[in-house]
Order: sequence, then C-alpha cells, then structure tokens
Amino acid sequence: MTIPQQFEERIIFPVGEKIENEYFRGPAWLGVLVAPDSAWNCPIFNVTFEPGVRNNWHRHPGGQILLVTAGTGYYQEEGKTARLLNKGDVVQIPPDVRHWHGAAADSWFSHIAISTNVQQGDVEWMEPVTDEEYPE
Ligand code: MN
Repeated sequence: MTIPQQFEERIIFPVGEKIENEYFRGPAWLGVLVAPDSAWNCPIFNVTFEPGVRNNWHRHPGGQILLVTAGTGYYQEEGKTARLLNKGDVVQIPPDVRHWHGAAADSWFSHIAISTNVQQGDVEWMEPVTDEEYPE
C-alpha cells in the first residue's frame, strides 16, 4: 500500500523512505528532517505508519518527544493503558521507559520524533507488540 495522496498532503513534512528493518510490524516511512550530527545534536524524523502498524517495544536512554501531525494512533508505556493520539498531541517519553507507538487499526498516522539527550545512547529495540497488547 502506498500513502494516500490526501493523507500525504496533510503531513506537510517529507515522508522519506520506507523503513526496512524488523522493528516495525508492517509498512512505515522515515523522513530525516534533521540528521544526527554534532552541530545540533538533536535528530528529528518524520515517521508515517500504515493503519495498524506499530513499532516494537523499545526504550530511549535519552528520552524522546513525539509531535503528532496527522491521523490517529497510540502511545503506550509498559504497565499503563494505551493513550489515543490525534494531531496536535505532544508526547514526552522519559529516558529508559519501555514503550511503543503506532497507528490505530483504521487510520494512517504520522508523528515527528525528536531525539533528546542523544549522548545517553541509542534506542534499544525489544519484542513486538502482540495482537493481545494492541488496543481493540
Ligand atoms: Mn519511541
């Protein structure tokens, strides 16, 4: 499936390239808005998920901030109820907290992902979010 033109226009930022790794359950796209470097030390990505697609459980040693730009999705921290996300929502993910994020089952979803305190280390990927864990 390709990103519907109507949705892509709402995202504003470039959608980038399809993500080719095993840490996303289904198609997702990554646009590099600010590349990792030493000048700003603040990588920023545009991430777009096909309906129902989410990333694996993971943690960021330096934390992460999500700015929701389009569609409906979820953010869930381990041990807590999944939070429903809509455009305009801001998610502040504390360092080292296990979590996942992704699209709702019936909606495309896009967020900007800002990497914070990157000197603390790279993302650590864990197991997939199961259908039982994924919200109804
Ligand atoms: Mn994350």
